[in-house]
Amino acid sequence: MLSKNDIIQLNITSLTSDGDGVARTGEGIVVFVPNTAVGDVIDARVLKVKKNVAYARVEEILAPSPDRIEPDCPVSRQCGGCVFRHISYEAELAAKRQKVVDCVTRIGKLNGELVKNIIPSKNIDGYRNKAMIPVGLDKNGEVIMGFYARHSHRIVPCRNCRLSPEIFNRIADDFYHFISHRPQTVYTPQNRGGIRHLYLRYAESTGDVMVCIVAGKRHFEDDLILYDSLKEKHPQIKSMVVNINPDDTNVILGKKCYTVYGEDCITDTLCGLRFDIAPRSFYQVNRAQAERLYGVAKDYAQLTGQETLIDLYCGTGTIGLSMASGCKRLIGVEIIPEAIENANANAQRNGISNARFICADATEAVAKLKGEGITPDVIIVDPPRKGLTPELIDTIAQMDPDRVVYVSCDPATLARDLKIFIEKNYSVKEITPVDLFPRTSHVESVVIMSRNNA
Ligand code: SAH
Repeated sequence: MLSKNDIIQLNITSLTSDGDGVARTGEGIVVFVPNTAVGDVIDARVLKVKKNVAYARVEEILAPSPDRIEPDCPVSRQCGGCVFRHISYEAELAAKRQKVVDCVTRIGKLNGELVKNIIPSKNIDGYRNKAMIPVGLDKNGEVIMGFYARHSHRIVPCRNCRLSPEIFNRIADDFYHFISHRPQTVYTPQNRGGIRHLYLRYAESTGDVMVCIVAGKRHFEDDLILYDSLKEKHPQIKSMVVNINPDDTNVILGKKCYTVYGEDCITDTLCGLRFDIAPRSFYQVNRAQAERLYGVAKDYAQLTGQETLIDLYCGTGTIGLSMASGCKRLIGVEIIPEAIENANANAQRNGISNARFICADATEAVAKLKGEGITPDVIIVDPPRKGLTPELIDTIAQMDPDRVVYVSCDPATLARDLKIFIEKNYSVKEITPVDLFPRTSHVESVVIMSRNNA
């Protein structure tokens, strides 16, 4: 039997959906080892043993996998952001496609051949247009800033993230120099008033940057000095906002925002349209890849100009608006009020007059639309990781659209939902994985389903 601290030799034979290496001992115990690659032969130290599984860490690499590369970030092993910095991008893409195949075959009981080649990202570094950088105090009371360790709220100090554009790292550095001398401005569960996160957004096409400071209170010591120095040094900053979050919670953003400098939103272009982005509105983090993702969704929607299109979980309306010129009318549904305000403004500023947006829970809104007698030809869904509710799938099926396009950021909930669609007279025609998040274990997929007698 295995015990804690044993050193065992392992061959890594596969990866979990989170990107950890998997090996099997002679006794058939499955061992999970982060930061490994398929083909590695390692000495591992056992950290924890449960019934038939164990968790271990690499002690020594005896023979490296051919997939291995030298990680180009000094904190990649501690930081929870990247899990694939030690394998080639080709190996990462293969692992991500496999994750989608595994989910749709095991959970969805579908044929794995429906899964097409994964669309690689144009940029594998610097692609993120959004960063949430936690701020805290270490055990000596020194200010630290960086990214959370995996499955934890421990901050790994880092102000030079490879996934961020250069401008974020420069702003983070200047911000750090301001707060590093002012530990009293940092949030603690005791003071509740201080700064919790530096939240940055970047509109790649215009170069505009939004700086959002998440704090327990609207004012903190020397706040005006910080704003003045940041805007002077970085003219790209077009908006500075304080978001208030006094609650002792894991949720990063609070409900209230105050603009302290410049505009309330920044503006980006996506698929040839201009979009306003408010601090609390969702916007795809990898812009170039989002255009490709939406391109696949558009191909799958097969619009002719005659259709009623419903875009559920529409955020600021990006997917639907990018297709509005190809359909008769568009109805978008989203739960965050500011995102709906953005969506309406986005329709207007792009001269789109056949769109209507509803601020509501998707399941409730669709039931209501059905009650109004709306008969959509195509429904697009793009839910958060938890996927769709069975009631929503049921109502969608009752509305009887010819096609359903499912954009998903979680292959497991996607596969679960596809299985329900299949029971409701829909067939899955094709699944295209798209890599929106290089170096992380996340993968996006787009699926086209057709009604069986369509
Ligand atoms: N399609 C958009 C946004 C996708 S992210 C884009 O590509 O940019 C998922 C969106 O679903 C978020 O904007 C989130 O606020 C919204 N959302 C989450 N739960 C919801 C619910 N129950 N009903 C409607 N929208 C919801």
